[in-house]
Amino acid sequence: MTPTATIEPALLALLHVKLRLFYECSEQAARAPKQVEFAKQREDQYRHKLETTTQQLQELRRKAKDKQNELGTREAQVKKMQVQRDGAANNKEYAMLGDNIQATIAANEVLGVELFELLEQIDAMVQQEKSAADVLGKSVAETKSTMEQTSSAVKKLEQELARLEGELDELFRKVPPELRTELQRKRPALREKTVTPVDDGACSSCWQMITPQMRSALLMKHPILCPACGALLFMPPA
Ligand SMILES: [Zn+2]
Repeated sequence: MTPTATIEPALLALLHVKLRLFYECSEQAARAPKQVEFAKQREDQYRHKLETTTQQLQELRRKAKDKQNELGTREAQVKKMQVQRDGAANNKEYAMLGDNIQATIAANEVLGVELFELLEQIDAMVQQEKSAADVLGKSVAETKSTMEQTSSAVKKLEQELARLEGELDELFRKVPPELRTELQRKRPALREKTVTPVDDGACSSCWQMITPQMRSALLMKHPILCPACGALLFMPPA
């Protein structure tokens, strides 16, 4: 870089805009697969919810079956005791069997209420299972469409990135070769700030204030690199 070399701020402003576009696209391309990841995570949550609901339903059905069996057994006991009571040998035995029958019937009523409650819980759980399956179905479809959209979006972004890289190449070719090499070397770290305007008297990449000497050199269109971050500075066109 010779001290007399000049560089048009308009070229640098254009480079800055194209660099910004390039890295915006590149970030979008990086974010796109995350949308698919989020959709898959949601899908997994809904699948887990459905599995849990199905397990709870199975557990309730098992409990209801046990209770039904118990009720059946105890109703059979009542019938057996009634037969025994009809053949009771004496009043004492008759009265005792009668008490047992009463107690068993009372217990069976409690069992019946419990069974009824269980059956109601099962009905509600069947609805929950159905809606959990619906939600999962929708989520599976959403993941699929997100994957399709993402893949086409990424393809478009990759085309856009290739196009912008071509434009950047053209623009960088207008920069003196020595400076161009240095900027290309810094670009992976500085990204869109590789070429950056002076903003409010400071480098808009690292916010180091520029000196009056730098300012006059910039006004004479001399290439000035920020001494702090290495960005190529320019005065934004008025
Ligand atoms: Zn800087």
